Amino acid sequence: MAGALRAVLAFPSTYAVGITSLGFQVVWASLARRPDVDVRRLFTDSADPPHSGSRGRGTGLDLFGLSLSWELDGPVLLDLLDGQRIPRWSHQRGDDDPIVFGGGPVLTANPEPLAPFLDAVLLGDGERLLPAFLDALQACRALPRPERLRALAQVEGVYVPALYVPRYDQEGTLLGIDPVDASLPATVSKQTWRGESLTHSTVITPEAAWPSIHMVEVVRSCPELCRFCLASYLTLPFRTPSLERSLMPAVEKGLAVTRRLGLLGASVTQHPEFADLLHWLDADRFADTRVSVSSVRAATVTPELGRILAKRGSRSLTIAIESGSDRMRTLVNKKLDREEIVAAARHARDGGLTGLKLYGMVGLPTEEAADVEATADLLMALKKAVPGLRLTLGVSTFVPKAHTPFQWEGVRPEAEKRLKLLAKRLQPKGIELRPESYGWSVIQALISRGDRRLAPVIAAVRGRQDSLGGWKRAYRAVRDGEADTEGAPGDLPLPPPWQEVIHATWHDDRPLPWDHLAGPLPRDTLARHRREAIAFGLPLSAPSAGQPAAPSPPR
Ligand code: SF4
Repeated sequence: MAGALRAVLAFPSTYAVGITSLGFQVVWASLARRPDVDVRRLFTDSADPPHSGSRGRGTGLDLFGLSLSWELDGPVLLDLLDGQRIPRWSHQRGDDDPIVFGGGPVLTANPEPLAPFLDAVLLGDGERLLPAFLDALQACRALPRPERLRALAQVEGVYVPALYVPRYDQEGTLLGIDPVDASLPATVSKQTWRGESLTHSTVITPEAAWPSIHMVEVVRSCPELCRFCLASYLTLPFRTPSLERSLMPAVEKGLAVTRRLGLLGASVTQHPEFADLLHWLDADRFADTRVSVSSVRAATVTPELGRILAKRGSRSLTIAIESGSDRMRTLVNKKLDREEIVAAARHARDGGLTGLKLYGMVGLPTEEAADVEATADLLMALKKAVPGLRLTLGVSTFVPKAHTPFQWEGVRPEAEKRLKLLAKRLQPKGIELRPESYGWSVIQALISRGDRRLAPVIAAVRGRQDSLGGWKRAYRAVRDGEADTEGAPGDLPLPPPWQEVIHATWHDDRPLPWDHLAGPLPRDTLARHRREAIAFGLPLSAPSAGQPAAPSPPR
């Protein structure tokens, strides 16, 4: 269509990985569906054919978008911008350059480390944000760039970092981030999609990382509120589309072209009609369909679930236990007891599944070595109680995430030793351990709690994001003024000491880099959930007269 917005939607990885991201597919489909948008896709290894013709200005693009779901992909954004000849830093872009926008869980939680590269950040659900964002851009596209940015900043849930300025004290402590004038909202609120249906694949291809899979989102968010969990706290409320009106038609649509179905969501088995969905998929007409589900809550694993998944081609099931220690699970609000974990393993095996993957964490607040020993003990007990089931433990280090109660907790250095402890105990017993590198968790924490002073570090990391050493060298080079971060805004003071951002336990009245961005729950509620959890986890001395009663477990 003449006058269509020319857009590129980029993914910070290869085509196979990007096209397997349901979030990316859905944003792309929302852009492609609009007659007034001409969109092409860009991956690190391929791209759709360029737009035909050129309007002879800048890159010829009006819009460049990126969806980010992993902190460590930040530097790839800069490679993608360079590839399109778009100036890296927002303040270097002129009237002829596109609006560079980002979205996805990482940017919705804390966009500040990447803020100087982005013109706009869409906070929340794309279904809700994109139509208003695109309408606003269409309406202001002819205006000079500063006016375009101001117009976009008036759209609910759209954050324009250049119009918000951080304040620091003399020591470089962040005091707050304020709008440049009173015409802008002081707080930008995350937007929530409350429509009847959720998403499903719009592209089914044998070249995807999960070849030819049709993905259907069964639930959004999770009502469990585990105190560290971004997938729950950042995306509330828990949403469950109707089985008959929404999920069944979505499944049928995909199964017209493939026989591979993936049921996705933070906690799919908590859909109130999940048992009915399973029962429906048990019918003979789905006999040649392979069904897989993402991680499920252990307490919801039934013999029926094991049986139907095994019959439909799944070999294993994934449950997150977080820890084998009852104390740790209670502290993080996991609401899962040991018997339920053992029962889940039994049901999986009795149903015909051959493997069970468990996810755990080390380095949780107040954790002691004995809690990690309890995780090893639980795995050993499971092996004995449910012989014949292949057990795998995926384990990562706790990383604080913005907008969760544990955002104020730091990464605990003891975690590195505790990962080794688990390996020493479990590997000789034939239990497969898949630990996530402690070093990468440290970098993740730096980005998840950092502010925009990290942007020059991210710029200096470019080209070496695959190596931990590359990140460390970049940080040192920026601190010592040796990094080549050409074009970086000159008014950013040095980043705070990296150890502090990663490891320190922060007081809950400390100003946070994301305080001006409102998530689903108020800060006071998060602080209360954190206080209750930590109070529960603290070792109790013998009660004596006048001492407060022992705190009750968090709810
Ligand atoms: S059950 Fe899983 S998805 Fe739900 S809050 Fe807990 S960790 Fe997050």
